[in-house]
Amino acid sequence: MKTVYGPVSSWRLGKSLGVDLICSKEKICSFDCIYCQLGEPLKKTARRNNFVSIDEMKKELLIALQTTTPDVITFSGTGEPTLAENMDLAIKTIRKISNVPLAVLTNSSLMNREDVRNMLRKLDIVVAKLDAPNEEIFQRINQPADNITFKKTIEGIKKFKKIFTGKLALQIMFIGDNLWHVDEMTRLTKNIEPDEVQINTPLRPCPIKPLTEKQLKHIEGKFKIKGLNTISVYTSKKPKTTPLDKMELIKRRRTEV
Ligand code: SF4
Repeated sequence: MKTVYGPVSSWRLGKSLGVDLICSKEKICSFDCIYCQLGEPLKKTARRNNFVSIDEMKKELLIALQTTTPDVITFSGTGEPTLAENMDLAIKTIRKISNVPLAVLTNSSLMNREDVRNMLRKLDIVVAKLDAPNEEIFQRINQPADNITFKKTIEGIKKFKKIFTGKLALQIMFIGDNLWHVDEMTRLTKNIEPDEVQINTPLRPCPIKPLTEKQLKHIEGKFKIKGLNTISVYTSKKPKTTPLDKMELIKRRRTEV
């Protein structure tokens, strides 16, 4: 499996070249979200480790950047990127070879760790997951690894917001399980004051039914009333992109789009 994949046509980041620091056929993640497109985890863990070679990543990235000009380079892929202990080295390495903005899609679970916050603050864009307004729904939707709690996750996001000078977006996946908690979610989000709120519902193949466009529009309206800057999966424009290797994209997305 290659470490660099895409570019992906992303509704939230534009033309995004992916860097997968996990690179596993089955996901390795600190969550096992009920809507996850990647299926059953190989490992559900909050323990950080090294999974890929940064020298290899650098070689692949140099080749990819010869043929594609992404809007952003994004840490994402087959699990939670912050589980990779060498992510800090990956950031430093990419900064030396490219001026393209750097982003991460994280599930926020390790943001209560100071070392992780200090690493993430070196990025330009952090897209942090928040699907639940309380512990019960957090456990039900995100099914976290042992010792990861809603309280610690929220505290981590809030601490990070205080030190981060880049763009912090909160990504919220709306499904049947949190549909009746939109008001609580808007209050919680307002309290965090992210730069952007990304209103999502699972449109890629997974066992959970997505909400309709009408339902998402209604939800988006509730965030807007609070003065929050929002984008939504149904209405955001996606750029046209051609992946360098279609199979590498399918391995991560289980679909071609
Ligand atoms: S955080 Fe992302 S990769 Fe991990 S289980 Fe949830 S959706 Fe899947």
